[in-house]
Amino acid sequence: MNFPKQQVIRWINEQKEDILEIYKSILRIPALAPKNGGDGEWDKAQKIIEIITSWGWKDWLEVVEVPDPKAKNQSRPNIIITYNPENLSTPAIVSVAHMDIVPVGDLSEWDHDPFDPIVKDGKLFGRGTEDNGQGLICSLYGLKCIVDLKLTIANPIKVVIVADEELGSTYGIRPLVEQNRFSPEDIVVVPDAGVKSGLEIEVAEKKPFQVHIITEGHQGHAARPNDALNTQPVANDLASKLFEELHTRFTESDPLFYPPVSTFEPTKRVNNVENTNTLPGRDEQWWDCRLLPNAPVEEIKKVFQTTAAEIEKKWNAKITVNIRTRDIKIPTINADTPVVRRLQKAIGTMIEGETTLVGIGGGTCAAFFRMAGIKAIVWGHMDHKAHETNEYCVVENLYTDIAIFTAFFTA
Ligand SMILES: [Zn+2]
Repeated sequence: MNFPKQQVIRWINEQKEDILEIYKSILRIPALAPKNGGDGEWDKAQKIIEIITSWGWKDWLEVVEVPDPKAKNQSRPNIIITYNPENLSTPAIVSVAHMDIVPVGDLSEWDHDPFDPIVKDGKLFGRGTEDNGQGLICSLYGLKCIVDLKLTIANPIKVVIVADEELGSTYGIRPLVEQNRFSPEDIVVVPDAGVKSGLEIEVAEKKPFQVHIITEGHQGHAARPNDALNTQPVANDLASKLFEELHTRFTESDPLFYPPVSTFEPTKRVNNVENTNTLPGRDEQWWDCRLLPNAPVEEIKKVFQTTAAEIEKKWNAKITVNIRTRDIKIPTINADTPVVRRLQKAIGTMIEGETTLVGIGGGTCAAFFRMAGIKAIVWGHMDHKAHETNEYCVVENLYTDIAIFTAFFTA
């Protein structure tokens, strides 16, 4: 059908205040994973359910609870809203946003209470505004616009709001995909990454590759290094050799991605001793690597193992290397697939310019769909403030994106 742009824009203009108020009421409720010091998504999910129930959507609602003993009510709730008044058959047009957030970080760096969102200079500040509240509110209102204006649809629409995206989706989209709640033909957009212009669509992601390395020596007094085996220089030697070797050997690049190469970064280091005059006898370091789809995974694993063995011998320490990666290809979505064409058309109704297809470092809900053979793409219209202090979303983008979702759902 032809997208009734003027009618949709008028509807959004009439709702602007409501949209902001509803959005703020959701943002006021943190949803932190137990591993991040919170109690999960229960309260936020109840709020969202309360809102959509007040819209008269109760019958379209399914809540899939994934058990988690550490969360409130031992449950991580996921919400699936299915709109299909004509009983249309598949494929469904699906959007997937997540309600969990990351911790606020250093509170003193925030200009305002991260859980009392405020609008300043056209920006809505608060934790979860961009990641992923914007995608959540825009897909909800994209559907509300269709319902309120009684727009014709050709496919069922599913708005999916999941838990646990930030820590790997064990209690979120992963079990939903594994339970076959989606069909292979479904058309899926994940509004959880993007650029300022709104003109980039993410169609590929790198493969996550994580390494945890434990170095063991002997703790001792700082004045008597001969009686100890200080793990600090051992682990440093290992880290710098690995860094050098990985960055000189695996330089293959693919212009689809930003950055265009596989990345190999040492990240977390565990606090080794409490005081400054003890030589640490144990060191733990982590590496976060993101590999291009065609990166030689086995060779990279070997570099970690052989370098560790070398350093082990050189220093007479004990080094254990644990590698975590998924031995699975995450397929790239071609330009010529219905989901890409549909989204390009929807973006084009509101934003001028050519869309480009890109690959990113990875870690969104889309990977789980792709691994299951379902074509999912990632799109957003954002300033890259996710996980930062003073996170915000641009208020005008909210209204534009609602119209884009309306177009994407109806197309
Ligand atoms: Zn996110």
